[in-house]
Amino acid sequence: MDINSLFLGPKSENEEFFRDMLQFMVNDHIGWRKYFHPDDASLPHLDEDARKEKKETLDRTREALLELAANLQVGSVPWFSPRYLGHMTTDTLMASLLGYMLTLLYNPNNCAYEASPATTPMEIEVGRQLAAMVGYDPLKAWGHITSGGTVANYEAMWIARNLRSIPFAIQKVMPGLMGEMNHWQLSNVPGPKILDLLDQVKTSGKLEEVRDASVRSLGIPAGGMGKWLVPQSKHYSWVKAADILGIGQDQLEFVKVKKDYRMDVGHLKHLIDGLINEETPVLGVVVVIGTTEEGAVDELDKVIALRQDYEKQNTWFHIHVDAAYGGYVRTAFLDENNQFLPYGQVKSQYLAQGFDESDTAWPEKSVYNAFRAMAAADSITVDPHKMGYVPYAAGAILLPDRRALDTISYFAAYVFEKEEKNPMLLGSYIMEGSKAGAVAAAVWTAHRVVSLHAGGYGKLIRNSIEGAYRFYYSLKTNPVIKILDKEYHVHCLCKPDINIVIYAFNQKGNTSLKKMNELNQKIYEKFSYRSGPVYASDYIMSKTSLSYEEYGDRPALFTHALGIPHSEWEKEQEVFVLRSCIMTPLLAQSNYSEYWNVFIASLKDKLAELA
Ligand SMILES: *Cc1c(COP(=O)(O)O)cnc(C)c1O
Repeated sequence: MDINSLFLGPKSENEEFFRDMLQFMVNDHIGWRKYFHPDDASLPHLDEDARKEKKETLDRTREALLELAANLQVGSVPWFSPRYLGHMTTDTLMASLLGYMLTLLYNPNNCAYEASPATTPMEIEVGRQLAAMVGYDPLKAWGHITSGGTVANYEAMWIARNLRSIPFAIQKVMPGLMGEMNHWQLSNVPGPKILDLLDQVKTSGKLEEVRDASVRSLGIPAGGMGKWLVPQSKHYSWVKAADILGIGQDQLEFVKVKKDYRMDVGHLKHLIDGLINEETPVLGVVVVIGTTEEGAVDELDKVIALRQDYEKQNTWFHIHVDAAYGGYVRTAFLDENNQFLPYGQVKSQYLAQGFDESDTAWPEKSVYNAFRAMAAADSITVDPHKMGYVPYAAGAILLPDRRALDTISYFAAYVFEKEEKNPMLLGSYIMEGSKAGAVAAAVWTAHRVVSLHAGGYGKLIRNSIEGAYRFYYSLKTNPVIKILDKEYHVHCLCKPDINIVIYAFNQKGNTSLKKMNELNQKIYEKFSYRSGPVYASDYIMSKTSLSYEEYGDRPALFTHALGIPHSEWEKEQEVFVLRSCIMTPLLAQSNYSEYWNVFIASLKDKLAELA
């Protein structure tokens, strides 16, 4: 697979192919219309007045499009460029872009099969592909496209919430089935066990009754359903989810992160033990594979092991993996038969691509172990519109066992055991209603061209990670920048687990955090839309801030490294940092290698302007 043939290219190098395909797509669609009842009447012939009106209408359409084009050119961000080192966005695969545009001409709606006989099956198919990618059995699993990671996270919490209320409902409707169980025991029935019980409920024809006695009908019981544990590095969609689903934001508990910004599993255990002590159930634990701010990969394998220990003590919680950003990285560990590669082989196959092990040392064993453990999670969020290189709006929710759908569906999900006869009414099993079939087609086309293993997405993503490592090392090897009589340090927050680099500058001798924050804010403004249209920028970065409110005292280690005393951290309680998600595969290629010097030179220029 040639990575540079996957995209239109930073200089539209693949324009000829792109134009050809656009032409083909337009012709194909035009023909499709014409040959639907070819003998039907055409639009009427026009008299002079009507011709004038027609011209006026078409002119207005043209003007609107020209205005839109002008707006887009001025107000868009050049994701495609190797100079774009900001948010989790990049060039999209030509295959998915063209697949999207072609499908858009037909405008299918995947809410109902009837409105999307072509694209509903594609959505089911890519759901299975993504399920296989994370290690689930595609024959048992369930996956579908959401508008993004946010809605996928909502669905995960929705399913966890409804499922965990089922034992209480069964005890009301079919008391014999649950046996003698107290509130604590009912709260800790393992998810897979609940699904087996639900099978028995279905056999007795009591599914509707049980669902009517569950949280979806009765609402959250007084006293709540337990705590939902998320790391401090969480995406803010969890705060919204707790609000929307009635769990309540106060039921969120935040697990500390370690100095590598991965969840501190020791602290997780401490929190869970405390909750068990007071008999507060743990509804779920979120593990993040690729945190939004730092790209940190939480040690999922350790959380899975921890739950096995608790299960022996009859305590159970749902484990959701929020891999919205990092999910597709798992392809870097898979061979063509979807087998998880041995660690040594993962390293050696990338050495074969010419990457220097001493430089990158990617992946660390802990990162490898975390990705391997994904197969044991109860639900997973993955965003094709992030590291799937697919246009918006494509997220995905994945479950290892599709029986869980019975807790959220508005038609009994078992109809899809007879899928061929009862085509999917997706709208009945998902949070959204009408949704673009074009998005499912875009993901489907992307997966057709770029396979979900080390030779496909794995190769593409490995190149982006290599680019991130080169950026990281070029900052590390230029720790001091001299401008006239002033010296500036730059420090990285931590070594990237995947492809996000966080860094900040400070002037040598400065001990004021407020001043340091101002400096980085000003640097950000020079490298973002804040200084005018980004089209003129040397490079484009993003920013974030790490605050006491979110991370406790953890960021103080970083400010210390930049020469800021602890008292300053206590005063400001927030450090402003620059952030570069390096999704482009280009910067790992030799003809872009001098870009690092361009970036450093440009940083020096801007610092000189600020000095
Ligand atoms: C991006 C992201 C989300 C939200 O996804 P959207 O697609 O923006 O809705 C959730 N969790 C993590 C870890 C993310 O990186």
